[in-house]
Amino acid sequence: MSEYFNKNLSALKPYTPGEQPQDMRYIKLNTNENPYFPSKYAVNAVTQSEIQNLRLYSDPTCGGVAGAVARFYGIDNENVIVTNGSDEALAFCFAAFGENGAAFPDVTYGFYKVFASLFNVNYNEIPLNEDFTIDIFPYLNSKSMAVIANPNAQTGIYMPLNEVEKLISSNKNRVVIVDEAYVDFGGESAVKLIKKYNNLVVVQTFSKSRSLAGARVGFAMACKELIADLNRVKFSFNPYNVNRLSLVLAAKAMSDKEYFNECVDRIVCSRERLINLLNGLGFSTLPSSANFVMAKSGKIGGEQLYLQLKSKGVLVRHFSDERIKDFVRITVGTDEEIDILIEKIKEILNL
Ligand code: PMP
Repeated sequence: MSEYFNKNLSALKPYTPGEQPQDMRYIKLNTNENPYFPSKYAVNAVTQSEIQNLRLYSDPTCGGVAGAVARFYGIDNENVIVTNGSDEALAFCFAAFGENGAAFPDVTYGFYKVFASLFNVNYNEIPLNEDFTIDIFPYLNSKSMAVIANPNAQTGIYMPLNEVEKLISSNKNRVVIVDEAYVDFGGESAVKLIKKYNNLVVVQTFSKSRSLAGARVGFAMACKELIADLNRVKFSFNPYNVNRLSLVLAAKAMSDKEYFNECVDRIVCSRERLINLLNGLGFSTLPSSANFVMAKSGKIGGEQLYLQLKSKGVLVRHFSDERIKDFVRITVGTDEEIDILIEKIKEILNL
């Protein structure tokens, strides 16, 4: 840290993204990307003339994508803000609504803590239950913004919508952020509640179920007033926050429902197969509604398994946090990728 760095941020511990090897030698099951290509309509829409149009700034309202999202969910464009990945939507939420602090689970998406530190938001990490489900009781009637990933990050466990609604209705004076990065793989979106509650923000992404992690497009949905608040932050930071090509890709990907359903169905089938195979090898797994599985072997520690798999060309993710350090998090790849993973695990465990 240089002597010039802002002293108020000296304690900031930046987020550590999962490894992104640039030579692609690995079977990559570490950052919950989609194993399938983006929609062909999205890819084909990136024409020469769209590329030439890069000389022009992108649409600051991201109207094409906001419209496609609004049509998909039966809401209005004014209920949607489009962002540079859902990370940016979450950052805007912390900046806009974090004044009275934030509460989130002790095991969840690691970026919440980082945004809290960056935007000077006090935060309270609320322990998950023993079985890694979310105990909503401590969140009820709290004074701070609540941030819940559903399905939860790292565990993959989904909290039923009626529980989510209890959280939202328990205190109308604070905002509840529901981060639905993984909801398409097995949950019901809370978006249908945005008409009923003016304190709910639902955050989603094109990175997982729509195969566009590298395009960096996310969005948030809420009542018009909360979206206007988020736009105040966005237009005070980066008005052209999403680039032209990503807007073209995302609008088409959102409209291609058929391919979206096909990819999600395949991934859900492969997830169940992966869980069965892992359980057959003596692993315990958490019940996942996401495109990843948390798995723990009684025979080898999480970090060792991660390292040995990496040496055999398969990347999974390991977190050193106390409660989940015995696990590895495995992204659901293609069935062929899963077969190789299972072979390598058998070799490592001498099975
Ligand atoms: N929320 C959760 C729970 C995530 O796991 C991720 C991806 N790591 C994100 C948000 C951010 O995804 P993106 O910025 O690619 O939309």
